[in-house]
Amino acid sequence: MKKVRTRYAPSPTGFMHVGNLRTALYEYLIAKSQGGDFVLRIEDTDRERYVEGAVDVIYRTLETAGLKHDEGPDVGGDYGPYVQSERKDLYRPFAEKLIENGCAYRCFCTKERLEALKDTEEFANGGYDRHCRDLPQEEIDRLLSEGTPYVIRQKMPLTGSTTFTDAVFGEITAPNEELQDQILLKSDGYPTYNFANVIDDHLMGITHVVRGNEYLSSTPKYNLLYEAFGWEIPTYVHLPLIMGKDDDGNVSKLSKRHGSTGFDDLIAEGYLPEAIINYIALLGWCPDDNNEMFTLSELEKAFSIDRISKSPAVFDYAKLEWFNGEYIKAMTTEQFEQLAKPYIMQAIGDKPLDTLKIAAILHQRTTKLTQIAENISFFAGLPEYDKELFINKKSKTNAENAPVMLKAAYDELKAVPEWNSEAIHDTLIGLAQKLGVKNGTVMWPVRIAAAGRKVTPGGAVEILDILGREESLARMEKGLAKF
Ligand code: GLU
Repeated sequence: MKKVRTRYAPSPTGFMHVGNLRTALYEYLIAKSQGGDFVLRIEDTDRERYVEGAVDVIYRTLETAGLKHDEGPDVGGDYGPYVQSERKDLYRPFAEKLIENGCAYRCFCTKERLEALKDTEEFANGGYDRHCRDLPQEEIDRLLSEGTPYVIRQKMPLTGSTTFTDAVFGEITAPNEELQDQILLKSDGYPTYNFANVIDDHLMGITHVVRGNEYLSSTPKYNLLYEAFGWEIPTYVHLPLIMGKDDDGNVSKLSKRHGSTGFDDLIAEGYLPEAIINYIALLGWCPDDNNEMFTLSELEKAFSIDRISKSPAVFDYAKLEWFNGEYIKAMTTEQFEQLAKPYIMQAIGDKPLDTLKIAAILHQRTTKLTQIAENISFFAGLPEYDKELFINKKSKTNAENAPVMLKAAYDELKAVPEWNSEAIHDTLIGLAQKLGVKNGTVMWPVRIAAAGRKVTPGGAVEILDILGREESLARMEKGLAKF
């Protein structure tokens, strides 16, 4: 059996859409699940779209996502160069071979002529009228001797149909008369994507061509090229569309109005690479059991092409957040602190508070790192708050007993010899017992005074411990002053 080889072939646009990342992930998994090689090839033949630094975005994303390529521009390999612009000169002989065997032709049409075609009814939406398809040889020779610029176009059969099988979408047939005589080689000598992808996939020994299904309709043309060269046709694996949920309940192609669509943007929003990868693995593929949690190496074992779906997948941000929360929970508090520290520092500024203790109260309730700063903003400074907050039915506190509890807690805490969570805990619980009230009746007013808000990560004990004696007592005094 031939070794499986897949390639991720991004065009360097400077932006990694989650759809592209899913393509990369599936190519990686198809290769790795079968002991194959995953190749990175940069498709930069569209010079007008070239963006400086965009290749670095690709390297960085693959590395952060853990998708290690076996061959590519940076790591080398036996099938290089892996950047299409560096392969520029190798495409022309292949295009000329197609001219020789009658599957392509030179087209000398000027830009102006092609523009003018758009004014006709038939070609208003683009397309080419095959004007140069059957030029007499003398005419071709004359134009060439005059140095007239030309492109090379694929000569599509005018009758019959082309059929191919896609591993996901099944058998697909296109009537040949619908296929345009597409450009293979541009006048500047650069190949078009439509030509280069076939040549490179063949020369690089790619066995599985995996890509978004926007390429499905072009695949008959690629198939005809493989046939024209007499090359083995790779396994085509087209992936389902990724949709987003619209406000009106419908779905449409995932775009910025649904939320972040770029890998970097999702990271900046507080999602972890592992959670993103786990989630997007399930956007179009499902395992044969109901398991949803997969590390990359588990995916490498579980993945199979026959469980890729052709139905569009819907990107659900709430579900991604759920995955993120699960990944966060599974960490140790120390690991979480490392990750959360920049966000904690953002909230507390230069206050010398114990970030590990703050991480501990945040850990199990954080589903997105960007929630952190808001959740702990009260540590930086006591917010303005209304004394109504002291009243809580469940804790049995009211306007009468709240100040009494707070004052009693204040007096007892002031006398604690050493300020630590155990001492604070025992003092407050002891006080509730002594007064014959629920623990909550003491804890509630203390926590409100310490944080100045109703919902906090951590309870009264943890918050007082983190704030320290001086700040805690000062905040309790402020609370008492409200009565
Ligand atoms: N360069 C193409 C893209 O970025 C690759 C398509 C393919 O995988 O063949 O969409």
